[in-house]
Amino acid sequence: MPQTQEKKKISLPEVVPVKLLAEELEASPALIVKKLLEMGVLATINESVDFDTAAIVADEYEVSAERKKDETDIELEESSKYTAYDRPPVVTVMGHVDHGKTKLLDAIRKTNVIETESGGITQHIGAYKTKISMKERKKTIDREMTFIDTPGHEAFSAMRAHGANITDIVILVVAADEGVKPQTIEAISHAKAAKVPIIVAINKIDKPEADPDRVKRELSEQKLIPEEWGGKTPMVPVSAKEGKNIDDLLETVILTADLEELKAPTDGPARGMVIESKVQSGKGATATVIIQSGTLKPSDVIVSEGEYAKVRFIEDWRGKRAQTAHPSDPVLVAGFKKPPKVGSQIRSVKSEKAARQIAEKTRRDNSVKSLSSKGTGLGEVSKVAKEEGIKELRLIIRADTKGSLEAIKSGLSEVSSDFVKISVISEGVGAVTESDINLASASLAVVLAFRASVPPQVMRLADEKKIKISKYEIIYELIDDIFAALEGMLEPEIVETVLGKLEVVKVFFKQHNRGIIGGRVISGKISPGTKITVTRNGQPIGELKTESIKIGAQTVNQVTDKKECGISYLGTVKLKPKDILEFVLVEERLRSLKKKI
Ligand code: GDP
Repeated sequence: MPQTQEKKKISLPEVVPVKLLAEELEASPALIVKKLLEMGVLATINESVDFDTAAIVADEYEVSAERKKDETDIELEESSKYTAYDRPPVVTVMGHVDHGKTKLLDAIRKTNVIETESGGITQHIGAYKTKISMKERKKTIDREMTFIDTPGHEAFSAMRAHGANITDIVILVVAADEGVKPQTIEAISHAKAAKVPIIVAINKIDKPEADPDRVKRELSEQKLIPEEWGGKTPMVPVSAKEGKNIDDLLETVILTADLEELKAPTDGPARGMVIESKVQSGKGATATVIIQSGTLKPSDVIVSEGEYAKVRFIEDWRGKRAQTAHPSDPVLVAGFKKPPKVGSQIRSVKSEKAARQIAEKTRRDNSVKSLSSKGTGLGEVSKVAKEEGIKELRLIIRADTKGSLEAIKSGLSEVSSDFVKISVISEGVGAVTESDINLASASLAVVLAFRASVPPQVMRLADEKKIKISKYEIIYELIDDIFAALEGMLEPEIVETVLGKLEVVKVFFKQHNRGIIGGRVISGKISPGTKITVTRNGQPIGELKTESIKIGAQTVNQVTDKKECGISYLGTVKLKPKDILEFVLVEERLRSLKKKI
């Protein structure tokens, strides 16, 4: 047998400049660029690739690459040391235009602000904290919560599209006189896609034409069943105008939050998310940040999106200077060199040196080319979904008419599978919207446009987020594509075939996890490389792997019926004479879908 040579080892960072990769592999950069191109990755000499891609190239040079720990990893490891404690929920209000989102946020702010001051409250940033007194174990305690004050779906999905979801609970406002409207349905899709619990505020119950039961019926059609009808969605009738039942709504928020068990460490470095940012006179570039874990202090150094900064000062949501900010706190942070992007993360780090390194890494990350950063069309989505074990193909469908939308849905219902399901997370008549793209990006969904137009700004956003919009003019072509995508997502079927059986005659040698036995083939043929199941007195007792099979001193690839041989195996089962070894071939077979016709 040829001697296996130890592979050369190199260690590479998470982001690998092409030049560095070439140096480590002792190859010319041009050759590396060519290799990458052959793999479908377009990167120039001055660009970088991700570790996984670099490792594949290294493998071609018979070099094995391992990940180098960098400052980011060390920081992350450190922050996982701290104990997590309960934190207040962060709530976003969504709903159809004019159903009372702004009024409700005002009403909540007025009823129970934290530490009400005589001079009244001026809110300075797009989020605020409130509290409600609740009875717990015979004591009355104040429970806090944070409201994000920028209602609307765009902001919600824009944040989710960044991969981080700041919202713990969505309050869906539905006007009792109007009922469910298109943006109500859209809000439900967004909240469901983000797996965020929904509380419904049935608003405007002061109006004579208010009909809360109709709202409940219409929401049930959208699969939001009220608790009192045996469902899971709390629905609280309120009047934002008259401040009625606001306390009930806030209590429901706390009860829902308690089920979610929201926790975060209060010690250690801070992590937070930017929900708005601007340049203010006298303050410079500032950002409103919701703290997600740890404590942010005015002396901290922070990094965000390839920039690092020293915090100049922190203000709470009322504009008062703060010395600390804890999980779920909304605060204004000043000291940035330029306003960070909405949806981006900020982190506090120990030193300016670490901050500089992390910032630099993020900047490089943004120009990183990788095998996985190709456009997200049907094929790619089904591939990624398969890799991540997602058993669902999520679709966003826009069609020209209600009729064609129904026809598409009925066509899709005929594509059956027990293994993967289709779920339409959003649908509608008319042009593809920016909201569709954000939702697709956040939910790993596919956008299908059936004779529906795609406005230029939507096209631009789709390009930016690498979302492919699949356009169709003919229904069966759409169905066929979905069909193929589903097949791509199917897990292969595992088929096991028993090739042969051997009876153990003698145990020559036994260590903890390996051994050598002699035996006789009693049926079929046996070969190395298969799985072995061991049975004793007809009962399976474990599994082994063959290392080699020998007849005399000769290593062989096959032993037939009635012949004797020696087997060296790997495994912890303690074999005894008379044990039966079954040599099982394990094969993966691709499944195929059957159309129900
Ligand atoms: P948004 O577009 O969802 O933010 O809705 P607004 O909060 O701006 O409210 C739209 C309109 O509905 C305004 O004229 C509000 O005064 C009115 N409105 C909001 N809540 C109530 C309510 O509880 N009762 C009544 N009668 N009117 C309300």
